[in-house]
Amino acid sequence: MSSRAKRQGARLPLVAILGRPNVGKSSLFNRLTGRRRAIVTDEPGITRDRLYGLAEWQGKNFEVVDTGGLVPDEKAVLAQEVLRQVRVAIDDAALLVLVVDARAGVTPLDAELARLLARTGKPLLLAANKVDSPRAESAALPFHELGIEPVIPLSAEHGLGVDELLEELVGNLHPAPSPAPAPAPASQEPEALNVAIIGRPNVGKSTLLNRLAGAERAIVAAEPGTTRDAVDTLIPADGHWWRLIDTAGIRRKGKTKLVAEKLSVVMARKHLERADVAVLLLDATEEVTKQDAAIGGYAHKSGCSLILAFNKWDAVEKDSHTLAARTAALRQWLKFLHYAPLVFLSARTGQRLDRLRRLIAELDVVRRRRLTARELRDFVSNLPLERATVPGGRHLRLRKLKQVGIAPPTFLVSANLPRLHFGFERFLKNQLRARFDFTGTPIRLHLARRSRQPARFRRSTVRA
Ligand code: GDP
Ligand code: GDP
Repeated sequence: MSSRAKRQGARLPLVAILGRPNVGKSSLFNRLTGRRRAIVTDEPGITRDRLYGLAEWQGKNFEVVDTGGLVPDEKAVLAQEVLRQVRVAIDDAALLVLVVDARAGVTPLDAELARLLARTGKPLLLAANKVDSPRAESAALPFHELGIEPVIPLSAEHGLGVDELLEELVGNLHPAPSPAPAPAPASQEPEALNVAIIGRPNVGKSTLLNRLAGAERAIVAAEPGTTRDAVDTLIPADGHWWRLIDTAGIRRKGKTKLVAEKLSVVMARKHLERADVAVLLLDATEEVTKQDAAIGGYAHKSGCSLILAFNKWDAVEKDSHTLAARTAALRQWLKFLHYAPLVFLSARTGQRLDRLRRLIAELDVVRRRRLTARELRDFVSNLPLERATVPGGRHLRLRKLKQVGIAPPTFLVSANLPRLHFGFERFLKNQLRARFDFTGTPIRLHLARRSRQPARFRRSTVRA
């Protein structure tokens, strides 16, 4: 089995919650997932989208998707899209839960949906919701007529019967083939590595996202002028969670090219605020542009770790020199991002996505690296200071280097300098990178405050 196939195999089993509007699907979804939401949308105009969340019962992890109303709201211009999303959810699901309103009794629509879902051949449970007390359980009896077993009376709102449902769910799910990440406490968002996929329009951000998430999850809004709140996707990765930042917000159709280009820079800047690792996606079939450089500039300033990725490598005519030539040209263009690793990939074919995944995981470790006092002492004592080009460099003394922060690695420099001269700063950073692995992360240096210095010389901050 290829390692990609293995990864896809390692995804958590998915439970889809379906039913007509107002039966309590989202209440049940919330009950099962706590606040562990993967996708949250709150957008006027699109009444419902799919919501993904993580759930755990007795040590077993699974994913839950709330499909929204199966019956499209006639006002929703995106009804078609909602239906398409529901179909995707059903296709992906290992198990379906049809939710009905026990207080409303069996409706023709419930019966229609039951037939429709039974035809998928997937394991199916019936949740008879709004049974708020044990005495009301008889309200669930008429639903046996629908031919779905078991019928589980429950109250999503009050929690009654939810344990029984969970028991049935995990009993019918195949165990996840690889160790799942530790379940997050229900009361808070899981610890996750925030990953931003940034780049100009059409470089392939949504395609890459879908590949990484392993399902068709980015929601395409066909309506011009649609705006949406940030929509994150949480994916399990090597025993951790990765939060792909604002994934559905990536696509904004109906904009002119110029507006879309400008917007992509603004969005990148916004996403970088929350990112730990950013993947700056470039289109290998096109020249590198000013916009790419602008987005790169923001990434550089943001302090997050960065990977440069040439996408659409499948569509490039290549010979044995192409890779080296493209690398050299890009490095020349984006010199200031010399510390960012470069990968040539294809989101469409999946080529080198494993390498990208490995890089993301590596960069996460490296940016949190903390050097020991001893490592730093050795480093300082072996520093070829004579090679530093500093005005008055002959008298330069570097007394001490202390790491005061991680993510990005930040150091306090004790030297006989009034300020951190640009050349000296570059020298120190290059030396640090040559000696220690700081791949992909900016490094920050501060000059230690010296009590005898005039106040205005006390501290100089430089961003890597
Ligand atoms: P959805 O549209 O199918 O997702 O349904 P919602 O979860 O939005 O719930 C529809 C309405 O039913 C809301 O007013 C909920 O408060 C209510 N509701 C959901 N679950 C229960 C329940 O267990 N008992 C009662 N009495 N009401 C519920
Ligand atoms: P976004 O605007 O950055 O989200 O870009 P999309 O993901 O919508 O992709 C833009 C276009 O490029 C679509 O037509 C994709 O099918 C295509 N595309 C994306 N990735 C690749 C790739 O790896 N190779 C090729 N040949 N085309 C790709």
